[in-house]
This record gives sequence, C-alpha cells and structure tokens, in this order.
Amino acid sequence: MRDARRGPSSTGPGRFRRVLRVRILGAGVAGTAAAALIAAAGHEVELIDEDFAQPALGTSLALFPPAQRVLARIGVLDAVTAGATAPREGRLVGRGGRVLATLPSGEALLVPRPHLLACLRRALPSEVRRRRMRVQDVRPLRRGADVLVGADGLHSLIRLSGWGEGARARGHGMTILRGITPQAPPEISETWGGGWLFGITPLTGGGTNWFASVPEHRAPDREGDLAHLREVVGGARAAIDAVLEASAPARTTVHGLFTVSPVRPVREDVVLIGDAAHAMAPNLGHGANTALSDAAALATALDGAQRIRPALARYAARRHLVDQGWRLGSEVMLRAGMADGLAGGRDAALGGVGRALARRSRGDQEPAR
Ligand SMILES: Cc1cc2nc3c(=O)[nH]c(=O)nc-3n(C[C@H](O)[C@H](O)[C@H](O)COP(=O)(O)OP(=O)(O)OC[C@H]3O[C@@H](n4cnc5c(N)ncnc54)[C@H](O)[C@@H]3O)c2cc1C
Repeated sequence: MRDARRGPSSTGPGRFRRVLRVRILGAGVAGTAAAALIAAAGHEVELIDEDFAQPALGTSLALFPPAQRVLARIGVLDAVTAGATAPREGRLVGRGGRVLATLPSGEALLVPRPHLLACLRRALPSEVRRRRMRVQDVRPLRRGADVLVGADGLHSLIRLSGWGEGARARGHGMTILRGITPQAPPEISETWGGGWLFGITPLTGGGTNWFASVPEHRAPDREGDLAHLREVVGGARAAIDAVLEASAPARTTVHGLFTVSPVRPVREDVVLIGDAAHAMAPNLGHGANTALSDAAALATALDGAQRIRPALARYAARRHLVDQGWRLGSEVMLRAGMADGLAGGRDAALGGVGRALARRSRGDQEPAR
C-alpha cells in the first residue's frame, strides 16, 4: 500500500479519511463524470485525454432516469435538460411499414452529445488536473496513482494491456451511420426493415437526429456511404426518404459496429468504466447511460475507502452484472432489429406484444370469454 495522506472526513467530525490519487485515462462521458464526482469527494484527480475537443457532430443520446439522477448528483441535470428534448413516445415499424408497437419514451431526455460533454466538463472542479497527451504505454500511468481508471472507450489501451488480446473489441460485420438534419422529424420511429434498421428522433432546436445500421459496407467517402444507404433503405418508407433527402455528408458520421466480450472490470488497482469495460451495440441506447452509472458507483465505492482493492471489488460487485446485462440485451436487440430471413415471424410476434402494450397503456380490458 502506498503512503496514505489523510484529509478531513466527509462522514463526521473528528474522523479522517484517506485522500486518494486517482488517474483517469479518457475524458468522454464516463471519465469526465467520474472525475467530477471523485474530485468533489476531495480526492486528487488527474484526467488525461489526447483530445479534449468537443465531438464535431451533434448527434443525440437518450438518457434515462438513472443516468439523469447521476447528472443531478454532479449538479448538471438542469443545464443538460435545458439543451435536451423529451419526446413522449416513438413507433417501432416493421418490414413493409407496419407499426409493430408504440413505445413510451420512458422519460428519456434526448441530449446532443457535445452539449452533454460541455455540461460535464464545466462541472469539473478546478483542482482536477487535465493533461493532454496520447498514451502509448500504460505502465507509467500506474506510478504515483492509488487507482488507475480506464475510461478510454471502445478500443481501450488499458483493457488491452491489462486484460490481454482476448479482450480486444470485435466487429459485427455492420456499418453504423448517424446524422442530423435541420428539418423537423417527420415522425419518431425505428424501422426494422429486414437486414437493416433506421431510426428517426428529434434534435434540440427543431431538427432531426437519425441513425442506421446496414451490413458492412464502406465507400471511399461519406457521399458514397450516404449513396449506399439510400440504395439499401430508399423507397421503403416515405419518412426515411425525407430524412435522407435532407442529409448531407458533412452532417453524417460512419463507423463499424464493435463490442467487447465480457471482462471483469477490475484488476489489482486498475478499473475499467464505460465503453472500455462493456462497449455494447447501440440498440438499447444504453452506452452513455451505463457509463454515467459506472462513474457514480465508482465514486461511491472510493468515498471513505481506506483500502483500494476491497473498494474496487465493491464497485465490480455493484456494476459488473448490470452492465453485462445491458450489453447482452443490446446484442439481442441488434440481432432482432437486423433480422432478415425471419423478419416476417419477428414482426408478427412483436405486433402482438405492441397491441397488448397499447391496450395496457389505454387501460383496456381483455374481452370477457
Ligand atoms: C450509433 C450509436 C448510438 C448511440 N446512442 C446512444 C444512446 O442513445 N444512449 C446512450 O446511452 N448511448 C448511446 N451510444 C453509446 C455512447 O455513445 C457510448 O457508450 C458512450 O459515449 C461511451 O463513453 P465513454 O466515456 O465510455 O467512451 P468514449 O466517449 O469513447 O471516450 C473515450 C475517451 O478516451 C480518449 N482516449 C482513448 N484512448 C486514448 C489514449 N490512448 N490516449 C489518450 N486518450 C485516449 C478518447 O479521446 C475519448 O475522449 C450510442 C453509440 C452509437 C455508436
């Protein structure tokens, strides 16, 4: 155990607690939220990123009530909400345009990612030391730190160096396209077209946020990527055609779909949070949600901790199964959404579930037999 400096306790007068030196690699949603919460508890935090710039494209994330409670704990919920939209419901649409279900939004806030990051970064206490550098070797990061936090995303160097080659992110043979347009959304929906999916949600300020998954295909430039998307999904539904008509290469981003196989997120004094621990398919919209919950759980586990390893074990016990549950669920939804040959049966089953949900939300009774 390294030397333990002590500071005044937050837990009561006359008691002392250990001030930890916490080094965090990655200033995305997970790392910035963790830095804000851990520093607010009086620990020394260093936050490292190769690029503290805002994401160039303002696509939206859905944040559900548990993530909103973390934002409230950081003190930024009002600021985040001020730049968000909050749709009441959306439709799940099957092949051929049949509405399979009308789904309540679950009180989600749709937040442009740059706005979320800006709010989190403004909340960082001034004592947090920020270092801009591209890390190539993890070993020096462990020196002088009581805890090293890997918040370095999908292709985490910390995960690779500590957990080995088996923990490398794996591709799913799919391409994800995301974009925004200035026009209002023609509807709020996710269409499962049979081998592809296309989502349309509102964007703060009146525009549209859209996302699509298609079988892997990369053109030399974004214009070619958009042209390919129009070939795959064009003509299936008027709402999708309208969104694609308004889309432009400069307002579109394209990447492969990768996830990480299950790893226990703690080794010695190193802990993984966010995508570094459990990068998941985007289909349940929970990557940033779990990243925020990880940050809060880590700050809680470290608060008042006298010994690091039991504290990190508490963190793992709290988050590992929950995070893996979301990862697994997202993958199931990915496969359901992208199903091609079985899409007819899938849509029939979902149509039944959707009608039952609609009846329940209207308070209808089943007819007496
Ligand atoms: C299409 C799509 C839609 C999504 N929709 C939603 C949604 O609706 N709701 C939701 O909750 N989530 C959604 N997500 C997921 C969400 O965006 C991510 O899960 C979340 O942003 C992960 O945050 P993070 O902080 O863990 O990682 P990241 O945001 O990837 O941050 C990692 C940081 O580490 C830095 N870094 C990495 N390596 C190094 C290095 N070697 N040296 C220095 N710096 C380094 C990077 O610069 C970066 O800033 C979606 C994802 C996709 C692909």
